[in-house]
Amino acid sequence: MKTEILIIGGGSIGVCSAHFLNQAGHDVTLVDKDDICAGSSYGNAGLVVPSHSIPLSAPGVWLKGLKWMFNPESPFYIKPRMDKDLISWLWKFKAACNTGHMHHVTPLIREMSLASVILFDKIANIDGLEFDYEKRGHLIAYITEKGLEDGKAEARILTKHGVETQVMDAEELQALDPEIESRAIGGIFYPQDAHLTPHKFVNGLATHIQRNGVKFHSAEAIGFESSDQQLRKVITTKGDIEAEQVVIAAGSWSPLLGQELGINLPIQPAKGYSITFKRPETSPTVGISLAESKVAVTPMGDRLRFAGTLELAGLDFAINKRRVQAILNAVPKYMPQLDPSNLEVLEIWRGLRPCSPDGLPFLGRSRFYKNLIIAAGHAMIGISLGPITGKLVTQITREETPMVDLTAMSPERFK
Ligand SMILES: Cc1cc2nc3c(=O)[nH]c(=O)nc-3n(C[C@H](O)[C@H](O)[C@H](O)COP(=O)(O)OP(=O)(O)OC[C@H]3O[C@@H](n4cnc5c(N)ncnc54)[C@H](O)[C@@H]3O)c2cc1C
Repeated sequence: MKTEILIIGGGSIGVCSAHFLNQAGHDVTLVDKDDICAGSSYGNAGLVVPSHSIPLSAPGVWLKGLKWMFNPESPFYIKPRMDKDLISWLWKFKAACNTGHMHHVTPLIREMSLASVILFDKIANIDGLEFDYEKRGHLIAYITEKGLEDGKAEARILTKHGVETQVMDAEELQALDPEIESRAIGGIFYPQDAHLTPHKFVNGLATHIQRNGVKFHSAEAIGFESSDQQLRKVITTKGDIEAEQVVIAAGSWSPLLGQELGINLPIQPAKGYSITFKRPETSPTVGISLAESKVAVTPMGDRLRFAGTLELAGLDFAINKRRVQAILNAVPKYMPQLDPSNLEVLEIWRGLRPCSPDGLPFLGRSRFYKNLIIAAGHAMIGISLGPITGKLVTQITREETPMVDLTAMSPERFK
């Protein structure tokens, strides 16, 4: 099989890349080893979040993480094991947990997130494409004084970097959704944020681009043939594919493909869970993050989703019921009406966030293979950054100047 551009991976990043490449008139084929949107892009919290512009590797996170590690119900967990990739990743992560790095990276993520919101607006206007996209902002709610103080400090950093923030007291916060009793003592409202149903977004866009000529091929990429710094063929479980340019957008599996090419992509899968319910009659209308518990509550059309936890356990899909229960237990502490025992569960899901150690994706053309582009490692914000990443992949592919400075995102920045 031959194609002009081959994309490996049909999640938010791969499908958005295929969309903008198709729009620019390219011949695009997308391969996925599974169904489209079967990875992390399926059951996540669906928040579009310029408010999450501070990277995970922020000052203080390292120590907080160590403390949480020993609590089986904490929102963060590292499965103890002698894994040299994990150890090396943690080392890099620790090195990135500093103020200088945070102030360098935050404006980049903010710029990408805000550009993505504009692109979401355009995608939401595509005829027949409906993914419950709501631009209502996003609230981070706090039930402790200490939490609220930390939240205000975070909001000050974000304000400094141009993200709109509104500090709310308990009364103002309650007024956002008056029918839902809130036990929060205060919160930060981020008016530029939005929410959507992620599988409807990715699958809907996939259907749209397929109608417009993008070819989908159900196969696993298992290797490459190259010569003269060019990829000549991608070897898949269902035949070889010759492509003029190749995009790796395989989320948490990208390091395996990197290994085949001798490229080190330090991405750790960070497992999270979601529990989706039939939307109750009384439901929040904005996305709400429960700060101390690190749980997100998102209304999605006729559904309501709780999502959370971050487990570094490798490419492991086991469901830890204790952690699922911890998510369920957290919500009524903030909103007693949302007691899960009164809600109808539709689905329990887990997915693997593809986390880089420095909070930036790997995005750019490879130095080793002239026709290879990498777009992976979007961690907790790969839905938010899907459209802008797709646009940037298109600009890189077409040798245009990218609309965001990608120097810090170089795919080969870690040796
Ligand atoms: C609990 C949870 C909550 C989250 N909440 C949010 C949120 O509110 N907002 C937000 O922006 N982000 C959120 N995220 C993060 C977001 O889900 C990810 O960043 C995003 O989905 C990553 O997209 P991706 O396309 O890189 O990877 P994926 O969606 O995982 O897609 C990768 C695809 O590549 C395919 N693939 C892998 N290897 C191969 C191969 N060798 N050959 C062919 N195909 C291959 C896989 O089958 C998969 O379909 C959350 C994640 C979790 C787990």
